[in-house]
Amino acid sequence: MAQEHGPAPRLAADPHTDAHIAEAIRQVSADHIRQTIEKLVSFQTRSTISAQDEGPVKAGKGIGAAREWIKAEFERYSKDCGGCLEVKTDTFTEPPGDRIPKPTEITNVYAVLRGSDPREANRIVLVTGHYDSRNSDILNGTDPAPGANDDGSGTAVSLECARVLSQASSKAKFPAKFPATILFLTVAGEEQGLNGSKHFAQVAKQQEWKIEAVLNNDIVGGDRNPQQDTSVVRVFSEGLPAAASEAEIKRIRMLGGESDSPSRELARYIADVGRSYDAGVKPLLIFRLDRFLRGGDHRSFNEQGFAAVRFTEFRENFNHQHQNVRKDEANGIEYGDLPKFVDFEYVAHVARLNAATLASLASAPAPPATVKMLTKNLENDTKLTWEPSAGAVTYEVAWRSTNAADWEYVQTVSSGTRATLKVSKDNVIFGVRAVDAAGHRSLPVVPEPER
Ligand SMILES: [Zn+2]
Repeated sequence: MAQEHGPAPRLAADPHTDAHIAEAIRQVSADHIRQTIEKLVSFQTRSTISAQDEGPVKAGKGIGAAREWIKAEFERYSKDCGGCLEVKTDTFTEPPGDRIPKPTEITNVYAVLRGSDPREANRIVLVTGHYDSRNSDILNGTDPAPGANDDGSGTAVSLECARVLSQASSKAKFPAKFPATILFLTVAGEEQGLNGSKHFAQVAKQQEWKIEAVLNNDIVGGDRNPQQDTSVVRVFSEGLPAAASEAEIKRIRMLGGESDSPSRELARYIADVGRSYDAGVKPLLIFRLDRFLRGGDHRSFNEQGFAAVRFTEFRENFNHQHQNVRKDEANGIEYGDLPKFVDFEYVAHVARLNAATLASLASAPAPPATVKMLTKNLENDTKLTWEPSAGAVTYEVAWRSTNAADWEYVQTVSSGTRATLKVSKDNVIFGVRAVDAAGHRSLPVVPEPER
């Protein structure tokens, strides 16, 4: 897509790096991640329907023991950053259902790194993994269900992001201040039916939390199989928003906006972070909600209208998921989700990509509001207007051909909140983002046509 005339725009693939964020993600430790996953596996089962009363918790068995340990771990990180994290739980009783034989208490455990700017602290970016596990029988709450990859890996990513970003925000040497709030979540009940994330997302919606992004990490262990590609991690994002009304779907159809849901813009943002920071793994964007026959916690957030994506390793080994630990002597196949199949370096790379995304979003100004594209007259130029974002010093208009997957060009708008581009709105899709003095970019907002 060539611009018709006027000053040449930049290529959108230009990387941009914040030294504080680069330093923060270097602190991610594969060894620490290994310790976290091994600890989670030591509870033998983290089935949501496993025992969670005092006895087993004290004995270090079952989901209750896992819950207490995660809480203590967050509290330990908080102590190390001068109490910078608020450690919380979200507990509710799930009524009986197909996969829940009797009323079951489910607890999500999370830590909040409150934004440093009171005007921005109500904006939230969130990372999550599920700490519950299962074996071959979804109603078995007693036999081993190690869940090292599914989803010890995602839980470890959330914990490791909490550890390094809380450190980064408190260190005198690299004081990476995050104006917006970062929330590190671990949920339960995923295997029984996304129960924990559903509850959490519903509460967030009811309480009108401004969650701008949800990064769900589920099966990011880089299972050691010959077809694995450890250079990439898949990032799944919905096309049509699950929460869109009939009227919104109609508008999306008119505009050709099928590939511009907030979740998909978040996925493109992650691609940008992947070009800007050396995480050790590149995001491979999959323009689809999830894999066939499978679901995940990002969906619970999508259903409440939040932008949410799923990170998953490139090549899954289904012998190592949702399986009783056993060996088939006839063919030598080992079943079960054991730590020995997990590549801890790979999990560390995924954690770096997550941490860089969280830090970039939490450092950036809010996305511009009320972004409009004037369509009053038939003309080949494009006129855009928007409302200012606090903390923004410039704005960027990004665009791409309608058949391109990712942003191709960017034009900086150094003053004001309007732009006229010598590019035909009929041929491209635009997004406007806010940029602060240090170059942190917000998520882009696709303009609404205005007549
Ligand atoms: Zn899972």
